[in-house]
Amino acid sequence: MTSGAGTLAERWRAVRPPVAGLHVDSAACSRQSFAVIDAATQHARHEAEVGGYVAAVAAAPALDAGRAAIGALTGLDSGDVVYTTGANNALDLLLSSWPAQRTVACLPGEYGPNLAVMAANGFDVHALPTDGAGRLDVDAAARQLAADRPSLVHLTTLASHRGVAQPMAALADVCRSLDLPLVIDAAQAFGHLDCAVTPSAIYSSSRKWVAGPRGVGFLAVRPDLAQRLRPRLPPPEWGLPSGVLERLEQGEANVAARVGYSVALGEYLAAGPAQVGERLAEVGAMTREALADVKGWRVVEAVDEPTAITTLQPVDGADPQQVRAHLIAERGIVTTYAETQRAPFEMALPVLRASPHVDVTEGELEEFAEALAAAT
Ligand SMILES: *Cc1c(COP(=O)(O)O)cnc(C)c1O
Repeated sequence: MTSGAGTLAERWRAVRPPVAGLHVDSAACSRQSFAVIDAATQHARHEAEVGGYVAAVAAAPALDAGRAAIGALTGLDSGDVVYTTGANNALDLLLSSWPAQRTVACLPGEYGPNLAVMAANGFDVHALPTDGAGRLDVDAAARQLAADRPSLVHLTTLASHRGVAQPMAALADVCRSLDLPLVIDAAQAFGHLDCAVTPSAIYSSSRKWVAGPRGVGFLAVRPDLAQRLRPRLPPPEWGLPSGVLERLEQGEANVAARVGYSVALGEYLAAGPAQVGERLAEVGAMTREALADVKGWRVVEAVDEPTAITTLQPVDGADPQQVRAHLIAERGIVTTYAETQRAPFEMALPVLRASPHVDVTEGELEEFAEALAAAT
């Protein structure tokens, strides 16, 4: 064996700068590899040498490779993909182009900033039925959607505030049989869970589990939906000849970051999406086991939930915001403080989120549990 030597965890860690402390915050922003950092840097250098617009043309094949990767990972085509500045930007582009009636069905635990984008675009929101853990009840949803058809169904497959994997493939089947457009927020699911369900539209962010640069994301739209969209800019009544996806992608862009994202997508494909997914499920179980007995906190997810997002609810009045700050300042341990606005209709209390990537060790999780106990 050559470059493939070692475990997935060892390989992942070996191609990145060393961590200053302990990084258990991949759901916020993963650590980029040297190759990703170098590709973005080299593009910026090339811009200085030949001019930004000339360099962008030269980067087209790299950007197309990124689109092809996204297509393969979503069940769509590379030609269905546009780069955005992130997930929220993608949803806003899509919803501001929506052709007709504006009603959306989504989970009660929908991401707060998504609800804001829906409201700003004049969408009426209907809640989909869930169980006590916030997981979609697929049969009840099928009955509800058949009886009261929204203009679109929106599913955040994996939330920011809770590591519950939603039954995306089952909902995709329901939407297909009812001929309802399904839009997937894969900000946390992409690079983590299998997202190849060929939805009407899907979007994500570069910096999360795929470990690309910040400030980039994608929106992919299936052609049957794309042909119905009416992007706001330029005004559709001007009748300009440009295509829908071309109009969605127009505007200034950080091409260097897009090049870096394409490299990160290539690395993810090379690592093996199934292997990464299995390892992240294992990491989630290890994390929940390591944190199960820390006094003052309750682990929200079941141990075997197949994701690497673990949330901790304070049970004795600890303040997750203060604990997060303390862990960074005293121990160099990076976690997330998730305030209730992340899921305003589901969260009663703020939580602390731990989201290690594939390379975390048992020893590091023990160290984290010990530091968390000390900080509480
Ligand atoms: C992070 C996140 C977003 C927003 O992503 P941006 O790239 O920051 O716009 C949307 N949905 C979920 C579930 C997220 O975790």
